Amino acid sequence: MAGNRHSIYDTFFANRITQLKAEGRYRTFVDLERQVGKFPTALYRGPEGTRSVTIWCSNDYLGMGQNPKVLLAMHTAIDRYGAGAGGTRNISGTTHAIVEIEAELADLHRKPTALIFSSGYIANEAALDVLARLLPNCVIFSDAMNHASMIEGIRRSGCEKRIFRHNDIAHLESLLRSVDPDRPKLIAFESDYSMDGDTAPIKAICDLADQFHALTYLDEVHAVGMYGPRGAGVAARDGVMDRIDVIEGTLGKAFGLSGGYIAASATICDAVRSYAPGFIFTTAMPPAVAAGALASIRHLKLSENERTLQQTHTAYLKAQLNAVGLPQLPSTTHIIPIPVGDPLLCKAAADRLLHHHGIYIQPINFPTVPRGTERLRITPSPLHDQAMIDALVAALQEVWGHLRIADTLNKPKAVG
Ligand code: PLP
Repeated sequence: MAGNRHSIYDTFFANRITQLKAEGRYRTFVDLERQVGKFPTALYRGPEGTRSVTIWCSNDYLGMGQNPKVLLAMHTAIDRYGAGAGGTRNISGTTHAIVEIEAELADLHRKPTALIFSSGYIANEAALDVLARLLPNCVIFSDAMNHASMIEGIRRSGCEKRIFRHNDIAHLESLLRSVDPDRPKLIAFESDYSMDGDTAPIKAICDLADQFHALTYLDEVHAVGMYGPRGAGVAARDGVMDRIDVIEGTLGKAFGLSGGYIAASATICDAVRSYAPGFIFTTAMPPAVAAGALASIRHLKLSENERTLQQTHTAYLKAQLNAVGLPQLPSTTHIIPIPVGDPLLCKAAADRLLHHHGIYIQPINFPTVPRGTERLRITPSPLHDQAMIDALVAALQEVWGHLRIADTLNKPKAVG
């Protein structure tokens, strides 16, 4: 390789970025400034200056990132404990706020123990890797739509895996049946799938787990805080939480903070705590984040207000979209995906919403969703009001008409 060492390597990376751009998959970030008390509006800093926009794609589903009790808990924790945890959990980082939040999460899910990670992504990656790796000759059964973090944990474990068609119980059963009954088995799935907004048949999967003696691992990242008594999730709502061996969740979505966790038996949590590099070798959660999350969980355990309002707004938006004939995927949850079916058009729609209508919705393209299923993913919160919903629907209609999206969606796809 001759020439300037730095620029030669840079060219490789630049070429790959050019490729992404050509495929319409290049991601741009929208520079936003959320302002206390004003969510879901925020300041957008764009090339044409700063303007106020309405956020319609936040995973702070209940606006808890702005809740005064949460903010107060965080301010108090900083004044009391300072900023950082001071080290890994093993070395100086197990602060009291983290011990408290683990107890609160164990109680939320009615499990003996919970274990905090720096994110939901790391929780999945670390826990699935360790659990499958420690079980001799384990086979993992994984839903085809599982999140990247679960796929990565499964890959790291090195275990044999069988992918079952999304939410397809008959397929899962046939795969379970095809494996030696004496081998350890783990079924990994999600409760709410965040890109389609559909829900897993949790009870039927638990029935199969009983029949085939499999461990159940359920990602409730998009459901904790949102569903069930005390916001414990969909398994709690469906009355099957005690049949799930490992519940994995996040503090970064409905709880409005950051961090991930598993709740499970003391032995399972101890095994993950003891063997997972992603848990062991990283600085612990800052106490103020733990304190904020603790306040958020405690609030949502007692208050139904946020969940009720959120569901009312979701139902209203779905009905309004239907009324004006805009398409939506058949969501059973608070997530409303609007199909566009083309990456460039999806980006163009998001750009027009932002620049002409002051509405921020991030386009969802491959690899987050399969090619040809690009979409806008809308998440109403309790803090959006009816006027905002009506304005959103009118803006979507204008953009759909302007970009002729319906024509593209209805165009027959090339075969071959
Ligand atoms: N699991 C699922 C299903 C997710 O969608 C996500 C993130 O969007 C994660 C896990 C990761 O959670 P976190 O954002 O806390 O890292």
